[in-house]
Amino acid sequence: MATCFNCGSANLTTSPHPLHGTRIDCADCGRFVKWGGKPKPPRPAGECTYTGKLIKVFVATDRYTAGILKASGDTIKFRTYSHWEEGDILTVSGRWIDDPKYGVQFDATLAMRVK
Ligand SMILES: [Zn+2]
Repeated sequence: MATCFNCGSANLTTSPHPLHGTRIDCADCGRFVKWGGKPKPPRPAGECTYTGKLIKVFVATDRYTAGILKASGDTIKFRTYSHWEEGDILTVSGRWIDDPKYGVQFDATLAMRVK
């Protein structure tokens, strides 16, 4: 539990912020405490399928691609075990995982180009 560095109060308020997601202020003394980060959309457990455009590639080799898929209002950080390039329209199937190094991402066991 965060506390105010100024007065030590644990009575904090959270409000939306366009750049940082949320900002956290002390409700007692009114001082800024810290940025709260963007709220993450909930990710379903189990097998999922998404279709979208590959808008950003972080890493791509002959048999691996990690990047961002833009799918109907959602941006999906994903990885898959085949080679794709920015601009490709893909259908990906797999599961959400919490990778210890790279965080929450979609682990696509299957990726296909949409014609
Ligand atoms: Zn305070």
